[in-house]
Amino acid sequence: MTSLKLPQFKGSTVEVSILHAGQTTVPTAYVFETPIPGHDLLDIPCYSFLIENKKKSQRVLFDLGIRKDWREKLPPTILDQIKSAKAVVEIEHDVADQLRKANIPLHSINSIIWSHHHMDHTGDPSIFPPSTELLVGPGFQLDKATTPGYPDNMDAVVTNDAFIGRNLVEVDFSGAIDLGGFPAVDFFQDGSLYLLRSNGHTHNHISALARTSENHFILLAGDVAHHPGEYRPSDHLPLPTEITPSPLDRATHTVPACPSSIFEAISPARLKSKNVKSTPFYELNAAMNEDLENAKVSLERMIPFDGSENVFVIIAHDASLLDVLPFFPESLTDWEVKGYKVAGTWQFLKDFNAAIGQFA
Ligand SMILES: [Zn+2]
Ligand SMILES: [Zn+2]
Repeated sequence: MTSLKLPQFKGSTVEVSILHAGQTTVPTAYVFETPIPGHDLLDIPCYSFLIENKKKSQRVLFDLGIRKDWREKLPPTILDQIKSAKAVVEIEHDVADQLRKANIPLHSINSIIWSHHHMDHTGDPSIFPPSTELLVGPGFQLDKATTPGYPDNMDAVVTNDAFIGRNLVEVDFSGAIDLGGFPAVDFFQDGSLYLLRSNGHTHNHISALARTSENHFILLAGDVAHHPGEYRPSDHLPLPTEITPSPLDRATHTVPACPSSIFEAISPARLKSKNVKSTPFYELNAAMNEDLENAKVSLERMIPFDGSENVFVIIAHDASLLDVLPFFPESLTDWEVKGYKVAGTWQFLKDFNAAIGQFA
Protein backbone atom coordinates (compact mmCIF):
# COMPACT_ATOMS: atom_id res chain seq x y z
CA MET A 1 0.00 0.00 0.00
CA THR A 2 1.64 3.23 -1.14
CA SER A 3 1.36 6.17 1.20
CA LEU A 4 -0.11 9.41 -0.03
CA LYS A 5 2.17 12.41 -0.31
CA LEU A 6 0.22 15.62 0.17
CA PRO A 7 1.63 18.93 -1.13
CA GLN A 8 3.79 21.11 1.11
CA PHE A 9 2.32 24.12 2.86
CA LYS A 10 3.24 27.40 1.19
CA GLY A 11 1.58 29.69 3.75
CA SER A 12 -1.91 29.95 2.20
CA THR A 13 -5.25 28.23 2.75
CA VAL A 14 -8.79 28.63 1.43
CA GLU A 15 -12.19 28.83 3.10
CA VAL A 16 -14.72 26.29 1.79
CA SER A 17 -18.52 26.23 2.00
CA ILE A 18 -20.87 23.67 0.52
CA LEU A 19 -24.11 24.72 -1.20
CA HIS A 20 -27.08 22.48 -1.88
CA ALA A 21 -28.01 23.40 -5.44
CA GLY A 22 -30.71 21.01 -6.59
CA GLN A 23 -31.71 17.43 -6.28
CA THR A 24 -32.36 14.52 -8.61
CA THR A 25 -33.46 10.95 -8.04
CA VAL A 26 -32.51 8.15 -10.42
CA PRO A 27 -32.94 4.35 -10.34
CA THR A 28 -29.76 2.71 -9.01
CA ALA A 29 -29.85 0.31 -11.97
CA TYR A 30 -28.52 3.22 -14.09
CA VAL A 31 -25.66 3.94 -11.73
CA PHE A 32 -24.10 0.74 -10.37
CA GLU A 33 -22.95 -2.48 -11.93
CA THR A 34 -24.95 -4.57 -9.41
CA PRO A 35 -27.28 -2.64 -7.07
CA ILE A 36 -27.85 -4.15 -3.63
CA PRO A 37 -31.48 -5.44 -3.38
CA GLY A 38 -33.73 -2.84 -1.78
CA HIS A 39 -31.43 0.03 -2.79
CA ASP A 40 -33.57 0.89 -5.80
CA LEU A 41 -33.40 4.66 -5.98
CA LEU A 42 -30.43 6.93 -5.60
CA ASP A 43 -31.03 10.36 -4.10
CA ILE A 44 -28.69 12.76 -5.78
CA PRO A 45 -28.33 16.13 -4.09
CA CYS A 46 -26.17 18.39 -6.27
CA TYR A 47 -23.42 20.19 -4.40
CA SER A 48 -21.63 23.37 -5.33
CA PHE A 49 -18.68 24.75 -3.39
CA LEU A 50 -17.67 28.32 -2.65
CA ILE A 51 -13.91 28.57 -2.25
CA GLU A 52 -12.30 31.78 -1.00
CA ASN A 53 -8.65 32.71 -0.96
CA LYS A 54 -8.67 35.66 1.42
CA LYS A 55 -5.01 36.60 0.91
CA LYS A 56 -5.59 36.99 -2.82
CA SER A 57 -9.14 38.34 -2.43
CA GLN A 58 -10.36 35.72 -4.88
CA ARG A 59 -13.55 33.69 -4.85
CA VAL A 60 -14.33 30.70 -7.06
CA LEU A 61 -17.25 28.33 -7.33
CA PHE A 62 -16.64 24.65 -8.01
CA ASP A 63 -19.74 23.42 -9.90
CA LEU A 64 -23.14 25.14 -9.91
CA GLY A 65 -25.66 22.33 -9.51
CA ILE A 66 -28.88 22.60 -11.51
CA ARG A 67 -30.30 25.67 -13.29
CA LYS A 68 -33.80 26.79 -12.33
CA ASP A 69 -35.08 27.12 -15.92
CA TRP A 70 -33.80 23.69 -16.98
CA ARG A 71 -37.17 22.72 -18.51
CA GLU A 72 -37.03 25.65 -20.94
CA LYS A 73 -33.31 25.97 -21.58
CA LEU A 74 -31.68 22.54 -21.67
CA PRO A 75 -31.11 20.90 -25.07
CA PRO A 76 -33.90 18.48 -26.13
CA THR A 77 -31.44 15.54 -26.04
CA ILE A 78 -30.86 16.12 -22.32
CA LEU A 79 -34.57 16.54 -21.60
CA ASP A 80 -35.18 13.21 -23.39
CA GLN A 81 -32.48 11.55 -21.27
CA ILE A 82 -34.06 12.87 -18.06
CA LYS A 83 -37.41 11.49 -19.21
CA SER A 84 -36.15 8.05 -20.24
CA ALA A 85 -34.12 7.64 -17.01
CA LYS A 86 -37.29 8.53 -15.09
CA ALA A 87 -35.16 11.03 -13.20
CA VAL A 88 -36.81 13.55 -10.90
CA VAL A 89 -35.17 16.99 -11.07
CA GLU A 90 -35.79 19.70 -8.48
CA ILE A 91 -34.20 23.07 -7.81
CA GLU A 92 -35.64 25.86 -5.70
CA HIS A 93 -32.81 28.21 -4.70
CA ASP A 94 -29.87 28.15 -7.09
CA VAL A 95 -26.31 29.15 -6.25
CA ALA A 96 -26.80 32.77 -7.32
CA ASP A 97 -29.95 33.07 -5.12
CA GLN A 98 -28.04 31.73 -2.12
CA LEU A 99 -25.04 34.03 -2.66
CA ARG A 100 -27.25 37.11 -2.98
CA LYS A 101 -29.16 36.18 0.16
CA ALA A 102 -25.84 36.00 2.02
CA ASN A 103 -24.81 39.42 0.64
CA ILE A 104 -22.06 38.00 -1.54
CA PRO A 105 -22.20 39.99 -4.79
CA LEU A 106 -22.03 37.88 -7.94
CA HIS A 107 -19.33 40.14 -9.38
CA SER A 108 -17.07 39.04 -6.51
CA ILE A 109 -16.92 35.54 -8.03
CA ASN A 110 -13.75 35.48 -10.12
CA SER A 111 -14.19 32.02 -11.62
CA ILE A 112 -16.69 29.24 -12.01
CA ILE A 113 -15.05 25.83 -12.35
CA TRP A 114 -17.07 23.09 -14.02
CA SER A 115 -15.96 19.64 -12.89
CA HIS A 116 -17.51 18.52 -16.19
CA HIS A 117 -20.31 19.34 -18.60
CA HIS A 118 -23.30 17.45 -17.11
CA MET A 119 -26.47 19.45 -16.37
CA ASP A 120 -26.43 18.65 -12.65
CA HIS A 121 -23.09 20.52 -12.38
CA THR A 122 -23.22 23.32 -14.95
CA GLY A 123 -26.03 25.39 -13.39
CA ASP A 124 -26.54 28.76 -15.05
CA PRO A 125 -23.35 30.81 -15.46
CA SER A 126 -25.30 33.39 -17.54
CA ILE A 127 -26.61 34.86 -14.27
CA PHE A 128 -23.03 35.86 -13.38
CA PRO A 129 -21.44 39.01 -14.84
CA PRO A 130 -19.03 38.77 -17.81
CA SER A 131 -16.09 39.34 -15.43
CA THR A 132 -16.62 35.83 -14.00
CA GLU A 133 -14.55 33.43 -16.09
CA LEU A 134 -15.56 29.84 -16.74
CA LEU A 135 -12.96 27.11 -16.31
CA VAL A 136 -13.36 23.68 -17.87
CA GLY A 137 -11.29 20.54 -18.21
CA PRO A 138 -9.04 19.57 -21.15
CA GLY A 139 -10.68 18.81 -24.48
CA PHE A 140 -13.87 20.74 -23.76
CA GLN A 141 -13.48 23.17 -26.67
CA LEU A 142 -12.52 20.53 -29.21
CA ASP A 143 -15.56 18.40 -28.41
CA LYS A 144 -18.63 18.87 -30.65
CA ALA A 145 -20.82 17.86 -27.69
CA THR A 146 -19.71 20.91 -25.69
CA THR A 147 -18.51 23.62 -28.13
CA PRO A 148 -20.26 25.53 -29.54
CA GLY A 149 -23.22 25.24 -27.20
CA TYR A 150 -26.92 24.68 -27.86
CA PRO A 151 -28.90 26.08 -29.68
CA ASP A 152 -26.13 27.20 -32.12
CA ASN A 153 -25.06 23.58 -32.16
CA MET A 154 -28.08 21.27 -31.98
CA ASP A 155 -25.84 18.34 -30.98
CA ALA A 156 -24.44 20.14 -27.93
CA VAL A 157 -25.32 19.00 -24.40
CA VAL A 158 -24.44 22.38 -22.84
CA THR A 159 -26.02 25.75 -23.56
CA ASN A 160 -24.32 28.65 -25.31
CA ASP A 161 -25.53 31.22 -22.78
CA ALA A 162 -22.85 29.94 -20.37
CA PHE A 163 -20.05 31.23 -22.63
CA ILE A 164 -21.40 34.36 -24.33
CA GLY A 165 -19.33 37.44 -23.47
CA ARG A 166 -17.23 35.50 -20.96
CA ASN A 167 -13.73 34.06 -20.85
CA LEU A 168 -13.88 30.30 -21.33
CA VAL A 169 -10.61 28.77 -20.16
CA GLU A 170 -9.49 25.17 -20.45
CA VAL A 171 -7.25 24.20 -17.55
CA ASP A 172 -3.76 23.56 -18.94
CA PHE A 173 -2.20 20.43 -17.45
CA SER A 174 0.91 20.52 -19.67
CA GLY A 175 3.15 21.59 -16.76
CA ALA A 176 1.25 19.52 -14.19
CA ILE A 177 2.78 18.12 -11.02
CA ASP A 178 1.90 14.65 -9.71
CA LEU A 179 -0.51 14.68 -6.77
CA GLY A 180 -1.30 11.19 -5.58
CA GLY A 181 -1.24 9.99 -9.19
CA PHE A 182 -3.42 12.82 -10.48
CA PRO A 183 -1.88 15.41 -12.82
CA ALA A 184 -2.40 18.64 -10.85
CA VAL A 185 -2.05 22.40 -11.24
CA ASP A 186 -1.66 24.92 -8.42
CA PHE A 187 -4.60 27.20 -9.23
CA PHE A 188 -3.69 30.24 -7.08
CA GLN A 189 0.07 29.48 -7.25
CA ASP A 190 0.24 29.46 -3.46
CA GLY A 191 -0.55 25.82 -2.64
CA SER A 192 -4.09 26.57 -1.45
CA LEU A 193 -6.09 25.00 -4.31
CA TYR A 194 -5.08 22.32 -6.79
CA LEU A 195 -7.09 21.27 -9.82
CA LEU A 196 -6.73 17.57 -10.57
CA ARG A 197 -7.25 15.83 -13.91
CA SER A 198 -9.65 13.04 -12.99
CA ASN A 199 -11.09 12.01 -16.33
CA GLY A 200 -13.10 8.88 -17.06
CA HIS A 201 -16.63 9.78 -15.99
CA THR A 202 -16.22 12.30 -18.83
CA HIS A 203 -13.07 13.00 -20.85
CA ASN A 204 -12.95 16.58 -19.49
CA HIS A 205 -13.60 15.75 -15.81
CA ILE A 206 -11.58 17.61 -13.17
CA SER A 207 -11.58 17.63 -9.35
CA ALA A 208 -10.17 20.08 -6.80
CA LEU A 209 -8.03 19.69 -3.69
CA ALA A 210 -8.62 22.63 -1.33
CA ARG A 211 -6.22 23.24 1.57
CA THR A 212 -8.30 24.21 4.60
CA SER A 213 -5.38 24.34 7.07
CA GLU A 214 -1.63 23.71 7.03
CA ASN A 215 -2.18 19.94 6.95
CA HIS A 216 -5.83 19.45 6.00
CA PHE A 217 -7.62 19.32 2.69
CA ILE A 218 -11.07 18.80 1.18
CA LEU A 219 -11.07 16.83 -2.06
CA LEU A 220 -13.98 18.03 -4.19
CA ALA A 221 -14.25 14.93 -6.29
CA GLY A 222 -17.17 15.77 -8.59
CA ASP A 223 -18.48 12.61 -10.27
CA VAL A 224 -15.41 10.39 -9.81
CA ALA A 225 -18.03 8.36 -7.92
CA HIS A 226 -21.78 8.77 -7.38
CA HIS A 227 -22.05 6.98 -4.01
CA PRO A 228 -19.51 6.36 -1.21
CA GLY A 229 -20.14 2.62 -1.61
CA GLU A 230 -18.06 2.84 -4.81
CA TYR A 231 -14.88 3.63 -2.81
CA ARG A 232 -15.63 2.40 0.72
CA PRO A 233 -14.60 0.27 2.42
CA SER A 234 -11.06 0.03 1.02
CA ASP A 235 -7.57 -1.10 2.06
CA HIS A 236 -7.06 2.54 3.05
CA LEU A 237 -10.34 2.84 4.95
CA PRO A 238 -11.51 -0.63 6.05
CA LEU A 239 -14.87 -1.27 7.64
CA PRO A 240 -14.51 -0.99 11.45
CA THR A 241 -15.83 -3.88 13.54
CA GLU A 242 -18.32 -1.58 15.21
CA ILE A 243 -19.81 1.36 13.36
CA THR A 244 -20.48 4.60 15.23
CA PRO A 245 -22.57 6.61 14.88
CA SER A 246 -24.92 3.83 13.80
CA PRO A 247 -26.26 4.23 10.27
CA LEU A 248 -29.19 1.94 11.06
CA ASP A 249 -32.74 3.17 10.76
CA ARG A 250 -33.73 3.70 14.39
CA ALA A 251 -37.40 3.11 13.63
CA THR A 252 -36.86 -0.50 12.56
CA HIS A 253 -33.59 -1.47 14.30
CA THR A 254 -33.32 -1.08 18.02
CA VAL A 255 -29.77 -2.35 18.62
CA PRO A 256 -27.68 0.43 20.22
CA ALA A 257 -24.36 -0.43 18.55
CA CYS A 258 -24.01 -1.45 14.95
CA PRO A 259 -21.69 -4.37 14.18
CA SER A 260 -20.19 -4.22 10.68
CA SER A 261 -20.91 -7.94 10.24
CA ILE A 262 -24.49 -7.16 9.20
CA PHE A 263 -23.20 -5.13 6.27
CA GLU A 264 -20.49 -7.64 5.43
CA ALA A 265 -23.26 -10.21 5.01
CA ILE A 266 -24.86 -8.23 2.16
CA SER A 267 -21.68 -7.03 0.41
CA PRO A 268 -21.50 -8.16 -3.23
CA ALA A 269 -17.73 -8.59 -2.60
CA ARG A 270 -18.59 -11.72 -0.60
CA LEU A 271 -19.83 -13.45 -3.75
CA LYS A 272 -16.52 -12.68 -5.47
CA SER A 273 -14.50 -14.11 -2.56
CA LYS A 274 -12.97 -10.70 -1.88
CA ASN A 275 -12.24 -9.24 1.54
CA VAL A 276 -15.56 -7.70 2.56
CA LYS A 277 -13.86 -5.39 5.08
CA SER A 278 -11.75 -3.68 2.42
CA THR A 279 -13.64 -4.03 -0.87
CA PRO A 280 -16.15 -1.35 -1.92
CA PHE A 281 -19.81 -2.38 -2.05
CA TYR A 282 -20.30 -1.10 -5.57
CA GLU A 283 -18.49 -1.05 -8.91
CA LEU A 284 -18.60 1.67 -11.56
CA ASN A 285 -20.62 0.79 -14.64
CA ALA A 286 -20.15 1.58 -18.32
CA ALA A 287 -23.43 3.50 -18.64
CA MET A 288 -22.39 6.24 -16.19
CA ASN A 289 -18.85 6.63 -17.46
CA GLU A 290 -17.66 7.75 -20.91
CA ASP A 291 -14.42 5.83 -20.43
CA LEU A 292 -14.87 3.12 -17.82
CA GLU A 293 -11.17 2.14 -17.65
CA ASN A 294 -10.03 5.70 -16.96
CA ALA A 295 -12.94 6.20 -14.55
CA LYS A 296 -11.64 3.21 -12.57
CA VAL A 297 -8.10 4.66 -12.61
CA SER A 298 -9.38 8.00 -11.23
CA LEU A 299 -11.39 6.18 -8.56
CA GLU A 300 -8.35 4.09 -7.53
CA ARG A 301 -6.28 7.28 -7.26
CA MET A 302 -8.94 8.86 -5.04
CA ILE A 303 -9.05 5.98 -2.55
CA PRO A 304 -5.77 6.81 -0.71
CA PHE A 305 -7.03 10.39 -0.30
CA ASP A 306 -10.23 8.98 1.23
CA GLY A 307 -8.11 6.87 3.58
CA SER A 308 -6.03 9.82 4.78
CA GLU A 309 -7.22 11.45 7.98
CA ASN A 310 -5.87 14.71 6.55
CA VAL A 311 -8.27 14.68 3.60
CA PHE A 312 -12.07 14.87 3.52
CA VAL A 313 -13.36 13.50 0.21
CA ILE A 314 -16.73 14.92 -0.86
CA ILE A 315 -18.28 13.70 -4.10
CA ALA A 316 -20.83 15.96 -5.80
CA HIS A 317 -23.83 13.81 -4.88
CA ASP A 318 -23.21 12.26 -1.44
CA ALA A 319 -26.72 12.25 0.08
CA SER A 320 -25.41 10.70 3.31
CA LEU A 321 -23.72 14.03 4.17
CA LEU A 322 -26.98 16.03 4.05
CA ASP A 323 -27.58 15.43 7.76
CA VAL A 324 -23.92 15.70 8.74
CA LEU A 325 -22.58 18.92 7.19
CA PRO A 326 -23.44 22.56 7.86
CA PHE A 327 -24.45 24.14 4.56
CA PHE A 328 -23.75 27.63 3.20
CA PRO A 329 -23.54 30.29 4.56
CA GLU A 330 -21.84 28.18 7.22
CA SER A 331 -18.30 26.97 6.60
CA LEU A 332 -16.68 23.57 6.14
CA THR A 333 -13.18 24.92 6.65
CA ASP A 334 -12.77 23.48 10.17
CA TRP A 335 -14.14 20.05 9.14
CA GLU A 336 -11.42 18.16 10.98
CA VAL A 337 -11.91 19.94 14.33
CA LYS A 338 -15.70 19.53 14.03
CA GLY A 339 -15.36 15.84 13.15
CA TYR A 340 -17.57 15.92 10.03
CA LYS A 341 -15.55 13.28 8.18
CA VAL A 342 -15.58 10.85 11.11
CA ALA A 343 -19.33 11.42 11.60
CA GLY A 344 -20.15 10.97 7.92
CA THR A 345 -17.88 8.19 6.66
CA TRP A 346 -20.24 5.23 7.16
CA GLN A 347 -23.61 6.99 7.03
CA PHE A 348 -24.12 5.78 3.44
CA LEU A 349 -24.67 2.28 4.85
CA LYS A 350 -28.18 3.38 5.81
CA ASP A 351 -29.02 2.98 2.10
CA PHE A 352 -28.74 -0.78 2.72
CA ASN A 353 -31.30 -0.82 5.55
CA ALA A 354 -33.78 -2.79 3.45
CA ALA A 355 -31.19 -5.42 2.52
CA ILE A 356 -29.99 -6.00 6.10
CA GLY A 357 -33.54 -6.16 7.50
CA GLN A 358 -33.35 -9.92 7.67
CA PHE A 359 -30.06 -9.91 9.65
CA ALA A 360 -30.54 -7.18 12.23
ZN1 LIG B 1 -21.70 13.60 -14.38
ZN1 LIG C 1 -23.33 14.52 -11.48
